[in-house]
Order: sequence, then structure tokens, then C-alpha cells
Amino acid sequence: MSYDVLVIGGGYAGLTAALYAARGMCLVAVVLGGPPRNARGQGVHGLISRDGASSADLLTQAREELCRYGVKFFDGQAETVWGTNGDFTAALGSGEEVKARKLILATGVQDQLPERPEGLRELWGKRVHHCAHCYGWEVRDGVLAAYLPGAAYGPEVLSNWFYYRRYGREVLICSDGPVQATDAERARLEEHGITLCQSALMHIEDTGEGARLHFADGSSADVAALYTGSGRTPNTELARQLGCELNEQTGNIKVDPGTNETSVPGVYAAGDVAGGNQVALALASGSRAGMFADFALHEEELPEWAREMQVK
Ligand SMILES: Cc1cc2nc3c(=O)[nH]c(=O)nc-3n(C[C@H](O)[C@H](O)[C@H](O)COP(=O)(O)OP(=O)(O)OC[C@H]3O[C@@H](n4cnc5c(N)ncnc54)[C@H](O)[C@@H]3O)c2cc1C
Repeated sequence: MSYDVLVIGGGYAGLTAALYAARGMCLVAVVLGGPPRNARGQGVHGLISRDGASSADLLTQAREELCRYGVKFFDGQAETVWGTNGDFTAALGSGEEVKARKLILATGVQDQLPERPEGLRELWGKRVHHCAHCYGWEVRDGVLAAYLPGAAYGPEVLSNWFYYRRYGREVLICSDGPVQATDAERARLEEHGITLCQSALMHIEDTGEGARLHFADGSSADVAALYTGSGRTPNTELARQLGCELNEQTGNIKVDPGTNETSVPGVYAAGDVAGGNQVALALASGSRAGMFADFALHEEELPEWAREMQVK
């Protein structure tokens, strides 16, 4: 059998795309490849009416809602995709093949975390965060830290450093060595509650309430949270197989901002893989992809005479 719409990726964007397409009377399938990006986060923040809800609860409820629409779920990774508009096939890790007329790629991104200091990866999402918008208000007025490898005083970093001060009463800027700055520059920042650490951050320990930072010179500091600038690699393997254009700078899948269709007709992309870095943005782009995949099917299904009249 062939589905109208196959969504690959069952995170926020994918499940929203599935909901919109299913509500558009499409026969929809979703490939659920694993946990969402924020699975280790402390709740989903910035989502009206569900602010702080657990990601597992939100996505479980979303899947339950989709069952009402007859959406079919496949567990596992989609490994290969091929085909053209109207006739796509995805091969899953299980060996199954799923066919659909439209494809929506909602495969998210991989966060690239620094390997050091020790404890950073283990405490990711719990004490170590990438985004103060996602987790900053919760630790407001606490002592906060940022770990930025190679950090040095300069005009390009100041706004970023001061940004953490919007949340914390004090901010420690840590690095993999002493943060480079003159004494005058350090003193000037300290007047604003920003301390540049003079020794490399070696180890982050969970204290139960926050994190204890251990430095190479033997000193330590307790903080409510630590931020690190994680790089992100969009999961674009399937998009490449289909020949979708990617943004050269960010690696995201390029989409038409009005429809979320990619450069390959019939293939849509939504969520972080197409740009954005927040659940609400993933919901928005997922809804657009689902809705425009449905509209495209509708247009294609019109009797030829009706289509011709419309064009005239
Ligand atoms: C620690 C942390 C905390 C965060 N907290 C917040 C927050 O509080 N508020 C907020 O707005 N944002 C937050 N974010 C950002 C948020 O997680 C993302 O913006 C959001 O998950 C993007 O949704 P998405 O659907 O694009 O991707 P995801 O939710 O990551 O979903 C993508 C899905 O696709 C699956 N997949 C990938 N490849 C395949 C494949 N080949 N086959 C099948 N499935 C595949 C993945 O397993 C995953 O389930 C946080 C991020 C992190 C890392």
C-alpha cells in the first residue's frame, strides 16, 4: 500500500506535520526513529499552556492523538529513501519498505558537545545547557557559568557574556585554559558581575542542586547551571539521498518559507533540520509542511478540467 504522506522523525515537527496532514484527510505514516533532541532536558519551556511539561509526556500524548486519526507508526530508523513526487519509498532498519506520495523530513539535529571537561556530557540537559531561553529563568538570580573553549575577551563575545547576566546574579566565564584578557578588562567585567576564570575547567560534578566546577589549580565553584555553546549537525542524510539542496553555511535543508517544500518536489522538511532551535518553531514549521503536503495532494487530485479552469 502507499500512504499519502510519510513523515520521517516523530519529534515535535514530525508529529505536528502528521496531525495537520491527517486532519487534511490524508493517509499518514510516521517513522519513529528514537528520542527527541531535548529528551534529557528539564521539561519543555516556552510552550504556551504546556510550559515545563516533560517531553516524554508531550510526545506520548501527541502519538495518542494521532492514533485517533488512523496514523500508522513504524519504529526504527529510515535508512534509505528514493523516488520522485508521487512515488517515494523509505527503507527502514527493520527491512520494511514504506511507500508514500509525499515525504516530510523532520529528522532534527545532533548536538556536538565538547569532549571535555569531564562530566559535561553526562550532565547535558540536567546541569549543562545550550540555551538560556530553554533553561535560564529556572535558575534566575543564581550563580551561572559558561564553558567556552578558547574564550578570550573581545568585542564579538561581550554581548554573549552579558546575556548570561540577564539571568544570573554572577557569571563565571570558564574555558579550557585561562580566559585571555588584560587585568583592566577583567576588572571592568567584574564590576558587572562577570568573572573570567584564570584556570582551566577540568571537571563538572552534580551536587544535587546544581553543579560544582573543579579547576586545574585545585579551586572549585558552585553554580546553579552551566551553559556551553554546542554545535549542531542537522540530520540530513536522507535529504542528501533525495538530492535536496542544503544551506551551505548551516547545513540545514533549504525550504520554501511559505510551504516548507524542499528543492525536490514532493519532499518537505520541518523542525530543527530545516532551521530553528525551539519546540514552538518546530511546531510551526511542522504544521506548514503537513498542511502544504496536503494542499499539494489536493491540487494533484483535482479533475484535469478543474485544474485547467483554475489556471485560466
Ligand atoms: C537539552 C535540551 C533542552 C531543550 N529544551 C528546550 C526547551 O525547553 N524549549 C524549547 O522550545 N526547545 C528546547 N530545546 C530544543 C528542542 O529540543 C528542539 O528545538 C526540538 O526538539 C526540535 O524538534 P524537531 O521535531 O525538529 O526535532 P526532534 O524533536 O529532535 O525530533 C527529531 C526526531 O527524528 C528522529 N530521527 C532522526 N533521524 C531519523 C531517521 N533516519 N529515521 C527516523 N527517525 C529519525 C529522531 O530520533 C527524533 O526523534 C532543547 C534542546 C536540548 C538539546
